[in-house]
Amino acid sequence: MISARIDNRTRKAVYARDHYRCALCDSPRYIQVHHVIPRGQGGSVTSMHNLITLCQHCHAGVHGVEAHYWTPADIAQACVEYVADYYAPDWWPYREDRG
Ligand SMILES: [Zn+2]
Ligand SMILES: [Zn+2]
Repeated sequence: MISARIDNRTRKAVYARDHYRCALCDSPRYIQVHHVIPRGQGGSVTSMHNLITLCQHCHAGVHGVEAHYWTPADIAQACVEYVADYYAPDWWPYREDRG
């Protein structure tokens, strides 16, 4: 599944945080919200810490549904580094509460 449900307010907040551009390639075209840590790995569906703005091309690339200059694993890692840096040292993208 490419995207779980994200409400419009959260989506807009993610776009605003990332300046309405792809966090990886800086493209402003066809931006979408991606979950950095997949739900199946315990990632939060709605936390901004687990959401990133990607263009359609990078988003398709990270899910492996379209060829990209980077491998899906490389794109996924770049997404992790982006949000981890942004929220450091308090990055917590998981569903469960800490502790
Ligand atoms: Zn991109
Ligand atoms: Zn995605």
